[in-house]
Amino acid sequence: MTEPTDTTFRGGRQRGGNPPTKCVCPQCGYTVEKTPGVPCRSLKCPTCDIPLMGE
Ligand SMILES: [Zn+2]
Repeated sequence: MTEPTDTTFRGGRQRGGNPPTKCVCPQCGYTVEKTPGVPCRSLKCPTCDIPLMGE
């Protein structure tokens, strides 16, 4: 898992092509406001210690 890009490389576009505005933990649902230019997966859930995902 060394892809530097966001999720756009997979399957083309997401709904509407809008970038995610939040990062969410897939395990516990923890959300944090996304910082533009910072991939969600570079952030970690403080509870689960796993990478967050773009919403
Ligand atoms: Zn979590």
